[in-house]
Amino acid sequence: MNDCIFCKIANKEIPTDFVYSDDKVVAFRDVNPQAPVHILVIPREHFDSALAVKDSSVWNSLLDAAVKIAKKFDLEGKGFRMVINTGEQGGQSVPHLHLHLLAGRNLGWPPG
Ligand code: 5GP
Ligand code: ZN
Repeated sequence: MNDCIFCKIANKEIPTDFVYSDDKVVAFRDVNPQAPVHILVIPREHFDSALAVKDSSVWNSLLDAAVKIAKKFDLEGKGFRMVINTGEQGGQSVPHLHLHLLAGRNLGWPPG
């Protein structure tokens, strides 16, 4: 998907500082942060949404990376939230699978 902004970020076509990267996943700060820590964790491979994932190893790499990042940011004590918005009512605005890692304030529940 040549027009996908997150593919361009993952490919370094759009210069972005990665807070984490490995062969499957990259992570970077959200441009419009909703909490003091707001990081997007994405697979390098394009998936339109969670619904497009057929191979569970994608979930392994995404969740493993998110937990590693949470530890790297010293979030073990205070806690954090991981969110994957999916589809229109789920609030997904970028059609490349991504996990939000949010932390640094008390996060309300239920979400808006
Ligand atoms: P969604 O609404 O799809 O769950 O989340 C998409 C997120 O991507 C939003 O929080 C939005 O602020 C973020 N975002 C959109 N475009 C860019 C971008 O070009 N760079 C970065 N770092 N974040 C982006
Ligand atoms: Zn993409």
